[in-house]
Amino acid sequence: MSRFFSEKFASLTPYTPGEQPRDMKYIKLNTNESPFPPSPSVADAIAGVADRLRLYSDPECTVLHEKLAALYGVSPDQVITTNGSDETLCFSFIAFGDERHPFVFPDITYGFYTVFAQFNRIPYREIPLREDFSIAPEDYVDAGGTVLIANPNAPTGLYLSLCDIERIVAGNRSNLVIIDEAYIDFGGESAVNLVGKYDNLLVIQTFSKSRSMAGARLGFAVGDERLIEDLRTVKYSTNPYNINSMTAAAGAAALDENDYYMRNCKTIIETRERTAVELSRLGFDVLPSRANFLFARTDKIGGGELYAKLKARGVLVRHFSGERISDYIRITIGAAEEMETFLRIINEILKEQAV
Ligand SMILES: *Cc1c(COP(=O)(O)O)cnc(C)c1O
Repeated sequence: MSRFFSEKFASLTPYTPGEQPRDMKYIKLNTNESPFPPSPSVADAIAGVADRLRLYSDPECTVLHEKLAALYGVSPDQVITTNGSDETLCFSFIAFGDERHPFVFPDITYGFYTVFAQFNRIPYREIPLREDFSIAPEDYVDAGGTVLIANPNAPTGLYLSLCDIERIVAGNRSNLVIIDEAYIDFGGESAVNLVGKYDNLLVIQTFSKSRSMAGARLGFAVGDERLIEDLRTVKYSTNPYNINSMTAAAGAAALDENDYYMRNCKTIIETRERTAVELSRLGFDVLPSRANFLFARTDKIGGGELYAKLKARGVLVRHFSGERISDYIRITIGAAEEMETFLRIINEILKEQAV
């Protein structure tokens, strides 16, 4: 820390992203990226804007917002795009959090939430998950602050039905409810369908997972146009050109080929279910996942040790040291062959443990 660093941040612990090692080629099952490339027209779309890069990007993202609105059955003024959904989340903490509106979220969820709260100096309350890691919807009724729920939740993969989400939204008419749907395309039902009915609902999604574009940095939110207006106020007060021209073009092209991405999601779901069965056969407890990852543990080896042994053999998974979850590893669902290799290596590691 330099002697000039603001005192405001003296005690801030920043978010730790998953590793992106460059030292060797790993089977990379640690950051929930897609094993599939973007659809073919995405590369052309990016190349097509190269000669326009001398100009600023369109701060209104007109084309992108129209396509998103059409896909999700809302109007363009109910949509905002951001530089990854992490930026929508950060904007949301800034726009919708203060002393009177503390944020309320589960104790085990996306690790960035506490960082955004601390960075923006917004009070927050964590509600413990049930013993089985599920969210108890009744805990969030009349929450007394801005509710933020990842659905499916991370890193558990557990999913709340749309019915449960609606109970939470309907039970908080004087609070905003934000649903982070980073993984909704892997088998869940989106709360976007409730946006027309509730002005206290904001749904956040991303192109990073189901749309194979983690490196393009594109996220978006759908909600009542007044909520979107608030997020626009934050955007135009910090970074009006938050979406660069290449990302806007890539995103628009991807939306024209939505079926391609939804087919890939179906393949990932099938691979996930097969992998879950195999891990159970090897003696793992595997949480039922509706995401593109599995959260699993075994009595035979600790989570940290298993992570390290996998890494030594060229397979990266994610391990979290949190108290209730340190036994677990989170495994991104990759290509079918990658998962076969992963299972073979897990089997070897377990056999070594046994002798
Ligand atoms: C990956 C992830 C995000 C952020 O994704 P971006 O790449 O910033 O769009 C947000 N929420 C959850 C729960 C995630 O897992």
